Amino acid sequence: MQRRKLLMTLPLLLCGNKSITSLQAATVAPRNAVVVGAGIAGLAAAKSLSANGYRVIVLEGRMRSGGRILTSRLWVDQPIDLGASWIHGNKGNPITSIAKSLQIKTVETNSDAEIIYDTNGKELSSLGYRNIDTLRASVENAVTSAQRNLSKDTSLQTAIENGTSWSTRNAADKISLRYLINSDYEQEYGGSYSQMSAFWFDDDYAFSGSDLLLTNGYSAITDSLAAGIDVRFGQTVKQINSQNSGVLIQTQSQTYSADIVVVTLPLGVLQSGAVKFLPPLPADKANAITKLGVGSLNKCVLRFERVFWSDQYDWIGYLSSIGGQWSEWISLSKPTGKPILVGFNAGDFGRQIEGYTDSEIVASAMTTLRKIFGSTIPLPLSCQVSRWGKDPFSYGAYSYVKLGATSSMRNTLAAPVGKKVFFAGEATHRRYPGTVHGAYLSGLQAAKDVMAL
Ligand SMILES: Cc1cc2nc3c(=O)[nH]c(=O)nc-3n(C[C@H](O)[C@H](O)[C@H](O)COP(=O)(O)OP(=O)(O)OC[C@H]3O[C@@H](n4cnc5c(N)ncnc54)[C@H](O)[C@@H]3O)c2cc1C
Repeated sequence: MQRRKLLMTLPLLLCGNKSITSLQAATVAPRNAVVVGAGIAGLAAAKSLSANGYRVIVLEGRMRSGGRILTSRLWVDQPIDLGASWIHGNKGNPITSIAKSLQIKTVETNSDAEIIYDTNGKELSSLGYRNIDTLRASVENAVTSAQRNLSKDTSLQTAIENGTSWSTRNAADKISLRYLINSDYEQEYGGSYSQMSAFWFDDDYAFSGSDLLLTNGYSAITDSLAAGIDVRFGQTVKQINSQNSGVLIQTQSQTYSADIVVVTLPLGVLQSGAVKFLPPLPADKANAITKLGVGSLNKCVLRFERVFWSDQYDWIGYLSSIGGQWSEWISLSKPTGKPILVGFNAGDFGRQIEGYTDSEIVASAMTTLRKIFGSTIPLPLSCQVSRWGKDPFSYGAYSYVKLGATSSMRNTLAAPVGKKVFFAGEATHRRYPGTVHGAYLSGLQAAKDVMAL
């Protein structure tokens, strides 16, 4: 691969009282790159560019790397992931290879190892489980039929309601259907079923194999990628100016100049308008940013003094009478040996819960747990909750295809602007969006595109 050797074009400038850091030597190559964001996409791009002779600086708004990979060390004896937890599909997954090379401990969990409780907290009978299977098949048929037969896109909710004869169903079936929609689609894609595109929401791929939990913390992956990379923490990018030669990247305190920039800002941040692009982004890219959706997924991690649930199961499902509330739980007692339960909320309730205080979230979680396990269960000793939608460095959990968008808009989001502004991040990966591996591969692809100049 031939890299162009460009002379430094940008002098060291001063803008008001903001210093400008020139990343460029006064002579010729290596070329200089700035990567915006030290999540897995940014770190993958930075690592690849550095390995290929680029001088790279990563600008990160937070005081840590990892982005939506966040291992909390609040409980000294047990790291807890408040963002990504699993390597989804370990076969052929690039994150599996990284984990193996670092000898990171992984534990398999199985989505079939699930116990499901009805609205009153009673375990489903074998007939109840069979009914869930039948209803799942009818939901899947409704989705496939909408995708094959409708001439115009509609929301996932409308497609499923029409395709499952919702209006004629009894109350119990409606609760079960709503549970399945939440468990199979909203928890997976983050969007509310009223917002997801029936045509495009599941236009993605998965690796085969097992789901692996990194019980000592996912951050080991991003920490290893960040090693040896010049990451500048606390540098919140405000403006990216590629109008003149090179690119000027302005943070709250400094301006950096480079030949190229790789932007890995989450879709939620791009939508917020917190970062200004000069010239403004092309209309098709701006349209993709507006139309794709940012989903919600939050965790409520409860640590108890003892295990009071049946810990031979990985997953606990609950047929909530209020659709999509506290329907999915994972028991960490088997993988970690500690009495820990994690409640997941996605879609509308996932977002709503961010307005609750921690104690309100715990009280709401305990109402469901008491219904299932009885009023005598102990209160949690400690809890940790996430609020990804309120976080100004993510403004949401991950992207989904909203009604009005198409999955091809991810390609538009990924496309470079000119030969200087490149894009990566989970939302830009059409094949594996919303995942760690998709984000990682998007970073490698952006680096490849830069090097192909
Ligand atoms: C609760 C939850 C659970 C998940 N579970 C899984 C899972 O089990 N398995 C899986 O594969 N995926 C999972 N995901 C998805 C996965 O975490 C993401 O797809 C992936 O980490 C995104 O990486 P990224 O590099 O694209 O973005 P990010 O990790 O968000 O990185 C972007 C970086 O940009 C920084 N930034 C933002 N704004 C600015 C600014 N203005 N200036 C400078 N820096 C800025 C951010 O701080 C961040 O570090 C989960 C996500 C969530 C929220």
